[in-house]
Amino acid sequence: MFNLQIIPVGAFQQNCSIVWDDQKNAAIIDPGDEAETLINFIESKQLNLTKILITHGHLDHIMAADKLRTHFGVAIYGSQEEDQPLFEQLGEITQEYGFPRVEGFLPNHWLNDGDLIKVGDLKFDIRHLPGHSPGHIGFFDFENKIVFSGDVLFQNSIGRTDLYKGNFDQLISTIRTKLFDLDDDFVVVAGHGAYTTIGQEKQNNPFLKK
Ligand SMILES: [Zn+2]
Repeated sequence: MFNLQIIPVGAFQQNCSIVWDDQKNAAIIDPGDEAETLINFIESKQLNLTKILITHGHLDHIMAADKLRTHFGVAIYGSQEEDQPLFEQLGEITQEYGFPRVEGFLPNHWLNDGDLIKVGDLKFDIRHLPGHSPGHIGFFDFENKIVFSGDVLFQNSIGRTDLYKGNFDQLISTIRTKLFDLDDDFVVVAGHGAYTTIGQEKQNNPFLKK
């Protein structure tokens, strides 16, 4: 069975997701802030955290990742390596945004289109979803029809394209070719705000009307 807890964290209320199977094998996706809150949740549920997964290198998705890696002694997977400067320059970026400085770090493993990540019984296919950031990826669970797609597609909106190597046309093409080929009832857990479905966004999203 698929278990999910979404915990919005930090000033940007970024949807950090924790997923686990029936044996409590767990992964955390985009631990963006509030490391203590996330650690407390994982430990109070007695989850066996096996991996830290990252959709992209923006600060609000990664600021607690290195702390969790140290605390739990597990590896960080993702995003795709074109995001490398965002991880390396996290110290300067957090200061520019007026946050307490969080030092830069690198994931243990970059992920690429077609890779597969296992979390106990759960399986996530990786797709490269560039446009919002160059190395943005999504974690697709085809068995449970749910995708963790970060800041690519939101309910009635899409990700910003004015940040490092953002590209509007590329983002629209990413959504049309790598998200809109999914079934209408596929659930989309976005990086911010309410979850949605592919069918709902095909019908209502103003950025994707023909
Ligand atoms: Zn972002």
